[in-house]
Amino acid sequence: MKAFDAIIIGAGVIGCSISLALARRGIKTLNVDALPSAGYGSTSHSSAIVRPFYSHETSCALAHEARHRWLGWREFLDYAPGPIARYVETGGLVLIRDGTDHQYENNLAMLDNVGVEFQRLSPQEIEKKYPGISLRAYGPPRRQHEEGFGEPVAGEITGGIFIPASGYVSDPQLAASNLQVAAEHEGSTFSFNVRVTDILRGGGAISGVQLGDGDIICAPTVVNAAGPHSSVINDLAGITSSLNIRTKPHRHEVAYLKAPPGYRQNAGFIVDLDAGVYQRPDSADMLIGSADPDCDPPEIVDPDDYNDQLTAQWTAQAVRAAQRWPELGIENNARGTVGLYDVSDDWIPIYDRTELPGFYLAIGTSGNQFKNAPVVGDLMAAIIENRDHDSAPSLLNLKSLKRSVNLSFYSRNRDIQETASVMA
Ligand SMILES: Cc1cc2nc3c(=O)[nH]c(=O)nc-3n(C[C@H](O)[C@H](O)[C@H](O)COP(=O)(O)OP(=O)(O)OC[C@H]3O[C@@H](n4cnc5c(N)ncnc54)[C@H](O)[C@@H]3O)c2cc1C
Repeated sequence: MKAFDAIIIGAGVIGCSISLALARRGIKTLNVDALPSAGYGSTSHSSAIVRPFYSHETSCALAHEARHRWLGWREFLDYAPGPIARYVETGGLVLIRDGTDHQYENNLAMLDNVGVEFQRLSPQEIEKKYPGISLRAYGPPRRQHEEGFGEPVAGEITGGIFIPASGYVSDPQLAASNLQVAAEHEGSTFSFNVRVTDILRGGGAISGVQLGDGDIICAPTVVNAAGPHSSVINDLAGITSSLNIRTKPHRHEVAYLKAPPGYRQNAGFIVDLDAGVYQRPDSADMLIGSADPDCDPPEIVDPDDYNDQLTAQWTAQAVRAAQRWPELGIENNARGTVGLYDVSDDWIPIYDRTELPGFYLAIGTSGNQFKNAPVVGDLMAAIIENRDHDSAPSLLNLKSLKRSVNLSFYSRNRDIQETASVMA
């Protein structure tokens, strides 16, 4: 029977970061993943946008700290013999429709509190920065079959908030692989193509996991970093009923279209709640994801049995983006990706211990935690090292920001917050 200090279920970007952080503290870890390689799950579908634009101060601060690690990715990894993921700091723009300024007051206050610079752009400045963009209003977004879909309405985009300290990571799967290689260099072990089929207990605490091939691996610490399978693992551990916040897998499509003429690859991503999409450059393409408008009901799926083909969701997103970019050509052959978010009840992750001693959660990443992965390892290490995180919550020191955050924000027992979309 094999034994480790800690088993991490999942080798996505989150599981790999936890492994690196624990290994750096001398903890002997094993990551187990059902897929063939690191980052092959939801991480590989990620748009990998890095932005500090959040409605809670902790979220904003953590994302801004993580951005410093992306900026110094090679130094952070400390060991990277092969190619590494590239963080491209393009900046990012949030478009503001007339009469909706108040929606963003809280986000701007958080940027101020954390000390993140932002600029207010006029329509003329937006048009100069993004040649070819249309600032007509279309919202609120509608379903494609609804009357008036794609037709402009009264009103206009009256400005935007541009945040220079934002961008995207060129290859999210490679980022996970970089973390794996660095972790292995520190002594971590990874096992692929193996599924955890049971969580084992002994003496009222976690004692290890059972694998699909019947093997039993022992460890006093097990971390659920299973992404969209997080609720399956929680059920195996028998802790679901003790959680105030639950998680569910949501299916999401991302469209890739040839970028329209004049589109600047370095102009920065755009969050466009009026059209219901976000978009960013990707080589010669424009990548278009959903901003989860109210009109689109969530597609909650079985993470082991869902449609991985592009559907009408692809077309809706492409057409919504074409509202903003009239010269965007909609190709006959749909190109893009289909991935799952592991969505929590309030779109904020759960980073926490549980009622089962030794069993920890790094779940509910809700389509918005790729950016934070470089700090999630240290964050989970702080929680795991603290024997008493429930009554004396751990603080995480954010070295670049020279401040700390209280990790009770991510508690499994928190009240459900008012964040209701991937923007969190
Ligand atoms: C379409 C899309 C767009 C996104 N865009 C952004 C963005 O722009 N910015 C941002 O910050 N975030 C974004 N995200 C979110 C981000 O990608 C995720 O939060 C992050 O990748 C989650 O990583 P993870 O390691 O938790 O999960 P995963 O990468 O899914 O890893 C979990 C792993 O656990 C394994 N596993 C599950 N069950 C078992 C089991 N029983 N036994 C063994 N292994 C198991 C799986 O095989 C998987 O590899 C996006 C996500 C998607 C899907």
